[in-house]
Amino acid sequence: MERTLAIIKPDAVAGGHVGAILQRVESGGFALRGMRLVRLTRAEAEGFYAVHRDRPFFDSLTAFMSSGPAIVLALEADDAIRRWRELMGSTDPAKAAPGSLRREFGSSIERNATHGSDAPETAATELGYFFRGVELG
Ligand code: UDP
Ligand code: MG
Repeated sequence: MERTLAIIKPDAVAGGHVGAILQRVESGGFALRGMRLVRLTRAEAEGFYAVHRDRPFFDSLTAFMSSGPAIVLALEADDAIRRWRELMGSTDPAKAAPGSLRREFGSSIERNATHGSDAPETAATELGYFFRGVELG
């Protein structure tokens, strides 16, 4: 079993897509091990996306991620990291596969509805950013 951090980003929460996305989590065979609504400060969003701090989209991305409430999820499944990224689809919703979460709920390469960790090391770091071990089921 593997765990990944998923985020329902502020655009999808504001758009009323939390229920639909959680339905896809459950029907996709992921076990929920942690779930919380957070409102990130700008500094917390910058910390979470520190790996991207030199990218041209960093300022806009961290403003967006701190613009409203988001849902952070700890998801568990066999091959959870790869399978959650597949369910999300490509970063750019316009290029994401039909039926993927980003295609269905995203509106731009920035406002793309969901986040998923990209490797076991980043999953561990990102899960630790939002959840203490004792909180996880
Ligand atoms: N992003 C953006 N512009 C870009 C690329 C990415 O605004 O040109 C945003 C988008 O919200 C993306 C996040 O930055 O989800 C992190 O980028 P990454 O390349 O890690 O994509 P992901 O792993 O989320 O698919
Ligand atoms: Mg990434």
